[in-house]
Amino acid sequence: NMVLDKEESVSLVSLQSREKPRGCAGCNRKIRDRFMLQALDRYWHEDCLKCACCDCRLGRMGSTLYTRANLILCRRDYLRLFGVTGNCAACSKLIPAFEMVMRARDNVYHLDCFACQLCRQRFCVGDKFFLKNNMILCQLDYEGSHLNGNTERQPQ
Ligand SMILES: [Zn+2]
Ligand SMILES: [Zn+2]
Ligand SMILES: [Zn+2]
Ligand SMILES: [Zn+2]
Repeated sequence: NMVLDKEESVSLVSLQSREKPRGCAGCNRKIRDRFMLQALDRYWHEDCLKCACCDCRLGRMGSTLYTRANLILCRRDYLRLFGVTGNCAACSKLIPAFEMVMRARDNVYHLDCFACQLCRQRFCVGDKFFLKNNMILCQLDYEGSHLNGNTERQPQ
């Protein structure tokens, strides 16, 4: 995997009067403002360091920017695009942050995975579901597994 994720801090620096103006990494023009931003080992106009997604000025947000491939992103967009919500409790694959999920207690699930793990019945809003040994179960299977469990433990 050649993609490197990087979290970088942005700092505001002032141009010393003796210094030669530096080129902006965003627009390639010379920076003649009194203040400029320093990030990713380069200098930027305050207006030129923007999130590639939402266009917000990253210097204004005062803090961190995220890079991936050639994209510069604000934290919110970075997490939305590349962050992860966690592992699906049913299929145990990673769930990207932008995906809709179902939650039950501390577990998250892909929408498609949120079904009874015995009979695969999907749940609608308002349906009852049960968690047993970290498995999602419909009411029927939950009660069924209960009965089985009880009979096994009963002395014959
Ligand atoms: Zn610029
Ligand atoms: Zn953004
Ligand atoms: Zn899943
Ligand atoms: Zn079921």
